[in-house]
Amino acid sequence: MDIRKELGAAEQCAADEADLEAINRFAKTALTAEQVYTFAVRLCDNEVDRDFERFDEQALSALGDLFVGKSGIFDHQWSAQGQTARIYRTELVHQPETKTAAGDGYCYLKGWAYLLKSEKNADLIAEIEAGIKKEVSVGCSVARSLCSICGEESGTCAHAKGEIYNGRLCYTELREPTDAYEWSFVAVPAQRQAGVMKRFGQDAAQLEQYVGQRKEFRDAWEILQKQAQLGRNYLAGLRREVVRLALLSDERLDGEVFRGIAEKLEEPELLELKRVYEAKTARLFPVQLREIHGEAGEENGELFRV
Ligand SMILES: [Zn+2]
Repeated sequence: MDIRKELGAAEQCAADEADLEAINRFAKTALTAEQVYTFAVRLCDNEVDRDFERFDEQALSALGDLFVGKSGIFDHQWSAQGQTARIYRTELVHQPETKTAAGDGYCYLKGWAYLLKSEKNADLIAEIEAGIKKEVSVGCSVARSLCSICGEESGTCAHAKGEIYNGRLCYTELREPTDAYEWSFVAVPAQRQAGVMKRFGQDAAQLEQYVGQRKEFRDAWEILQKQAQLGRNYLAGLRREVVRLALLSDERLDGEVFRGIAEKLEEPELLELKRVYEAKTARLFPVQLREIHGEAGEENGELFRV
């Protein structure tokens, strides 16, 4: 089961000897403290999220090992230029004084990442330094997801996520992570801070961030993009046809105004208008309509006989 979660922002942190040693396990040639920029991110935690799911502490700990060495990508503004950062160390941070919605102590998985202090990365580093709020999103797979009330595999019991049973919140516990395939770093959309953002934003570029680099997701994304384009083409054609039929059947219509109206309509309304105007046009121009349908008769000279 594939899981995607979003969490907090980045904080800057200086690299010491131990950091450099950890970083250099991944570097082709040994890097010095001057060559790398390091920062920390909150990758995921044990809080019940808005989908009423959470990782248990063991899962977070296992994810910590899986994320070491994984490259993260930045949102479209940056990833277009190929910027990546690599996690070189993780740690489970406990904050027992904070309670989760499940009633136990809060803990989160902190990851330390580095990127090269290159010309290409200069603006990105400046942005992290400036503390611009970014959201970290992780993608991983888990082997098990369990109902918090009865412990059965999620979806196999009668309990519903988000409901309260005898004073206990029902949520899904994500356990036994098998892979951590990516993490990414995206700007927090404004509506998020207002608390109304959906998990996937409306904007395709943002959604594409969530798709990530994993090949099967990419392939599926591209197919969906093509289908969406076909859909848009179909709708544009339908709008043109409705406008054409409307203008044919009612000469008093203002073409520009009607075009504007058609732009705002969706398929069901357009199909209904098409049906009505087609019938009207058929009464007004019986011959021409047959022509449209490829059945032109011999009365071509009488097209505009109203
Ligand atoms: Zn249950």
